[in-house]
Amino acid sequence: MGGDDTPDMALRHDGARAYRVHLVVAAVVVPAYVALPNGPARAVLNSLLGLAFAALIAVGVRRNRPRAAGAWWLLAAGVLAWVLGDITYNVLDHVLHVSPFPSVADVFYLAAYPLLAAGLLLLARRRTAGGDRDGVVDSAIVTVGAGLLSWVFLMQPSLADSTVPVFNRVVATSYPVGDVLLLAVVARLLTTAGRRSPSFRWLAVGIVLMLASDSAYQVVSLSGTYHGGLLNLGWSWSYAALAAAALHPSMRGLADAAPSAATFTRVRLVALTCASLLSPGTLLLQSALGWEVEPWSVGASSIALFLLVVLRMNGLLKQVQTQAQQLTALARTDGLTGIANRRSGDAELGRLVDRCALDGVPLAVAILDLDHFKRFNDSFGHPAGDELLVQAARAWTERLEDSPAFLARWGGEEFLVATTGLGAGAAADLVRALLGATPLGQTFSAGVAQWDGAESVTALVGRADAALYAAKAAGRNRVEVAAGGTSGVVPVQR
Ligand code: GH3
Ligand code: MG
Ligand code: MG
Repeated sequence: MGGDDTPDMALRHDGARAYRVHLVVAAVVVPAYVALPNGPARAVLNSLLGLAFAALIAVGVRRNRPRAAGAWWLLAAGVLAWVLGDITYNVLDHVLHVSPFPSVADVFYLAAYPLLAAGLLLLARRRTAGGDRDGVVDSAIVTVGAGLLSWVFLMQPSLADSTVPVFNRVVATSYPVGDVLLLAVVARLLTTAGRRSPSFRWLAVGIVLMLASDSAYQVVSLSGTYHGGLLNLGWSWSYAALAAAALHPSMRGLADAAPSAATFTRVRLVALTCASLLSPGTLLLQSALGWEVEPWSVGASSIALFLLVVLRMNGLLKQVQTQAQQLTALARTDGLTGIANRRSGDAELGRLVDRCALDGVPLAVAILDLDHFKRFNDSFGHPAGDELLVQAARAWTERLEDSPAFLARWGGEEFLVATTGLGAGAAADLVRALLGATPLGQTFSAGVAQWDGAESVTALVGRADAALYAAKAAGRNRVEVAAGGTSGVVPVQR
């Protein structure tokens, strides 16, 4: 790549302009040709425009050079296949006067579905690099709901039409099957996290327009023959929308993976609710209209929808549990040093008092306060003070690893050590050992008090605090044991 930015910028600018020109031209030209009377002129224009839109997708890929170029080539190939189907159909119909259905035109038409679906699926996969099970379940819910509708109103009627040869019925039914496939992948694409760029939106508009025109066409052809008209507006504009997606410079980042965000939005909840209701809704509609009720398809889709919703709930439940665990850990941990915080220290003291009372084991509490820490901050800066606190907590944790001791950050540069099974003297010795383990020659003063078996946690800590005060007064860098309450082993209370 050249280091010169100017041609690239010009190209980008040019790309944005091509996009705008395309939008205006497509908005004007498509309705103009659709308004022409049914005949060769309209058929030719329809095909030429289709070819132009397929070519514009290729132009967009060449200009914007997206990372997932293969996906865009598949989309271009899908549109091209559809246009080739149109051309073949019209040649058979208007030139050769052969029945165009079923024919080789259907091969082109039907090839478009897997090509488009593969392109969209590639884009969706690139956007969810880390996998996204929730999105897959959500798109499955939408697909099953819409699939039932398609089965009841499109596939089943065209399969059941005994006036038509079986092969023709199968070919005709392949179209709604292709639409459901396309719906599944576009739902998958829409459920991916990541930027909803203009290119992304045009892509979605294009495919949805395509599905709508296709489905409308199938409904119309169930009751008669379609002679072209309004539906061509939908199809041509759907190709134009795909071309717009490819021409817009934001198409470059459309396949960028995004960290999966909280995806259960209200919009999605509404969409999933509607999709889930399609199955019972179909049953009620069939009954209300006096149609033949289809217990198998409605029953099977209801089961599938129910299981998918349960699967989704399970995912949400897991997410809530994980978050609750994370929150609990956060609430107990000191943000700076990573050891237990004051809240956790208070709770632990309450538990220890109960346990030591029950087991008849001595409990001792020490409060440690770094000496002249203000001075340290003043000399080396607050960040260095923070780092010392982190290193001290780490060193003490290591030193206490094999001791029956609990360490918490009690306040700014004050720490709590609680020991079980040690008398005040042994506990004081353990805390003295921490003096030697403190980094950078930093000293602290500490007060130790042993629980008397009756006093409150507040009173116990108060005595340790008083001993700390005494240690400071006595010249710092020392550990003092509080008077009173040190009756040795606490009598067992049961
Ligand atoms: P001494 O305890 O020996 O009497 O003197 P001191 O300077 O340590 O006094 P004191 O305990 O009253 O002051 C605590 C100081 O500790 C105040 C503040 O500058 C520092 N400190 C408290 N929390 C933090 C912290 O989270 N990070 C840093 N860097 N400093 C803190
Ligand atoms: Mg202090
Ligand atoms: Mg201090």
